[in-house]
Amino acid sequence: MSTGIQSHHQAALDQGNFLIQHCSACSKHVYFPRESCPHCGAADLAWVTPSGHGTVYSVTTVRRKPDAGGDYNVSLIDLDEGVRLMSRVVDVSPDAVRIGQRVTASVQMNEGNEGKGLIVFHQQSGKATAAINSEAAETKKEAA
Ligand SMILES: [Zn+2]
Repeated sequence: MSTGIQSHHQAALDQGNFLIQHCSACSKHVYFPRESCPHCGAADLAWVTPSGHGTVYSVTTVRRKPDAGGDYNVSLIDLDEGVRLMSRVVDVSPDAVRIGQRVTASVQMNEGNEGKGLIVFHQQSGKATAAINSEAAETKKEAA
């Protein structure tokens, strides 16, 4: 079931903006978006833009036939804000993703899903270190 809060989160993603929540009562970050803080129960959650930087907590390679798109990885990423999310590390061989690796988030438009925004992660090196905000801005420009 999609609540208003989750719809807001997806709508922001569709515009290239990755948002998480911050609890003003206990100062912890919250993700996936919800009505009330899972740490302290307060309903006082504000939308914030995360740094986008995180660390790979675990990684699984999902095998897929080449004509179905090839192998991909499903990774659990710990954001520096202290929340964990399931995502994919892209632009790297699925087998090359390592636990403890530093990664940076960006929003990818999922063509197979009616242009819905999807959070993916990139290896933190060279050009991939661009801040999430500038990447989101670029995505927006291309979509316009
Ligand atoms: Zn709280």
